[in-house]
Amino acid sequence: QNELLSASGTTIFTVMSALAMQHGAINLGQGFPDEEGPVDVVRAAAEALLDNRNQYPPLTGLPELRQAVADANRRFYGLEIDANAEVVVTSGATEAITASLMAVLNPGDEVVLLEPLYDTYLPVVRLLGGVPRLVRLAPPKWELPRAELAAAFGPKTKAILLNTPMNPAGKVFTAAELAFIADLCQRHDTYAVCDEVYEHLTFDGWRHIPLMTLPGMRERCLRIGSAGKTFSLTGWKVGYITCDRSLAGNVAKAHTNLTFTTPPNLQRAVAVGLAKDDDYFTSLATGLQARRDQLASGLTALGFSLLPCNGSYFITADFTPLGFHGDDVAFCRHLTEVAKVTAIPVSAFYAGGDAPGHYVRFAFCKRESVLEEALQRLRAWK
Ligand code: PMP
Ligand code: GLN
Repeated sequence: QNELLSASGTTIFTVMSALAMQHGAINLGQGFPDEEGPVDVVRAAAEALLDNRNQYPPLTGLPELRQAVADANRRFYGLEIDANAEVVVTSGATEAITASLMAVLNPGDEVVLLEPLYDTYLPVVRLLGGVPRLVRLAPPKWELPRAELAAAFGPKTKAILLNTPMNPAGKVFTAAELAFIADLCQRHDTYAVCDEVYEHLTFDGWRHIPLMTLPGMRERCLRIGSAGKTFSLTGWKVGYITCDRSLAGNVAKAHTNLTFTTPPNLQRAVAVGLAKDDDYFTSLATGLQARRDQLASGLTALGFSLLPCNGSYFITADFTPLGFHGDDVAFCRHLTEVAKVTAIPVSAFYAGGDAPGHYVRFAFCKRESVLEEALQRLRAWK
């Protein structure tokens, strides 16, 4: 059997969700909304199912969804994308990440990654024979250590895998940070796999900037979006890659060998979703921002020290002021078993070796009443 897979455990999300179930805890661990996505999008999927949209669609995606992705790129970012040659629809962003890395990596190539990182990145890089070069953002502000990042790039670097807005850190990369990264990519002639699944989930006037929009980056970036996050339908697993035509051929071949296609009925519905008016996208973010504020003020009142959160579903809390004796894993276990509220230890987003052990991640993509109930339980526990 494959040694890398045999040596790895189940994901932290599975472990914590099972523990939450076992103890009847409110699950603010795994990041999924507890309200359904827009009804017109769901209805479009149901209609497509009944409309005999149930056989293999075209390999790179339904033309109407590829066109909708290209249109959204123009509407939100001013990117001119050829829907026929520069978009590949995948079965979730998870597949898109693998397909993008597969498209560019040869065994032995180095990939620069920023910690804390989303849990699938490292296993996938390693399974493809890539060599991870890890650079840590500096908490509590999650600053980009520029000198270290520059030192991580070298002659063997094939790509950087960048996640903005970032899970779990809630960081949205600034124009200046992106310019620094773009400069490194150009100087070292590398690609950038850009996980932008939370592109529409930014707060307080922060705007998501795709690395692909920076000068010189149009041909280097594989930009990944997810209908799961954009339409609060995380179980659908429809993702999309936007990349230059010179890369799309390999991406399509990777996709052929991974899943070949993605359910056509869901693709049609996602095309309907991407055409929604600006109000939809704005209120998605403002609604979520209100939930962040609700949870953040409750946690602050309880004594947690909160790290900045400018986007995504997640906020990181430092529990040091609460005086708990134990690390983040012990804290999350205790919180689940005793307070009956579940969070995720942030050390799970590090490759290992002296990761910070005093931060936990709370998901706030939940109904107001659920967040209030969680806060009440925490108050009773404290
Ligand atoms: N990237 C990040 C940073 C995520 O948080 C998620 C959410 N699970 C994904 C990728 C995967 O998205 P999808 O459900 O579309 O596969
Ligand atoms: N992206 C979500 C999170 O970070 C869910 C991930 C998963 O369940 N694999 O919580």
